[in-house]
Amino acid sequence: MPVVYLVVPCLNEEAALPETNRRLTQKLDSLIKSGKADAKSRILYVDDGSEDKTWELITHYHNENPLVLGLKLAHNAGHQNALFAGLMTAKSYADCTISLDADLQDDIEILDEFIDRFSEGCEIVYGVRKKRDTDTFFKRVTAVGFYKMMKLLGVDIVYNHADYRLMRKRSLEALGEYREVNLFLRGIVPIIGYKSGTVYYDRHKRMAGESKYPLKKMLGFALDGITSFSVKPLKIISNLGILISFLSIIGILYALISYFLGVTVPGWTAIVASIWLLGGIQLLCIGVVGGYIGKIYSEVKNRPRYTVEQFLDDPEQ
Ligand code: UDP
Ligand code: MG
Repeated sequence: MPVVYLVVPCLNEEAALPETNRRLTQKLDSLIKSGKADAKSRILYVDDGSEDKTWELITHYHNENPLVLGLKLAHNAGHQNALFAGLMTAKSYADCTISLDADLQDDIEILDEFIDRFSEGCEIVYGVRKKRDTDTFFKRVTAVGFYKMMKLLGVDIVYNHADYRLMRKRSLEALGEYREVNLFLRGIVPIIGYKSGTVYYDRHKRMAGESKYPLKKMLGFALDGITSFSVKPLKIISNLGILISFLSIIGILYALISYFLGVTVPGWTAIVASIWLLGGIQLLCIGVVGGYIGKIYSEVKNRPRYTVEQFLDDPEQ
């Protein structure tokens, strides 16, 4: 029977937490009672620098419920870093962790299946969404575009899998070896390479509160995913450069021939158009290069990914 830690990052989740905590406690309780999880299993909430009552709620649950632990980060480190903080804390006590969101969009009834895969020897178990019918049209289109793009760029990620996953102690230790500051967990975890399994589930609508991933954050996250795992964009712009140089040779030849044939037209449109086009492409390319340089900058600084303010640990440990 494994000691299972449910790791739940929370940012301003006061609206969702009471129901989440009730259902998670109930679920973990029944897992323990049915002999699927060890009695030392816990729910670990990671407060990612919330500004509402989230931490008060977590402290309260911890005091009245022995299953609940809490980790408070000193500032908002971002979902991925908060999750990472939780996993690194849990790995000292747990045989495996299961990460899930505080809004319980991911169906917790399949926690049993996660543990079944674990018992069959899987190191990592990915929770994969069956379909995306609870998403808005926009989110659906952008998400599918994102997975296609990642595949095109040669990044190995699991289709329709977010951060609902089980990780065994050994893979958590391997994950801890990854030193990058720009964290994109669903890109790193498959690289670890240990034996993995999959469970399928339906994703519900957010239970309460608002999404903490507005469009801007989501796009930033997608870009992070690409630039952290693929240097293909850099190759694409050099190829673009070659293509454009080639095209401009043809253009020059065309201009010379027209000149000698005596059909010189003022050609203002063509000149202006090409200036704009080239200007645009150059800016775009500089932007892509700049993106990578920015990444190098933050990796070189090598700042800690998160700072712990308080840990409500297990009094029995
Ligand atoms: N979250 C976090 N830090 C952040 C943003 C989000 O800890 O900076 C947590 C949030 O509380 C939730 C999970 O990450 O538990 C996923 O966020 P959300 O459900 O808002 O994202 P969505 O499901 O809309 O993509
Ligand atoms: Mg959500």
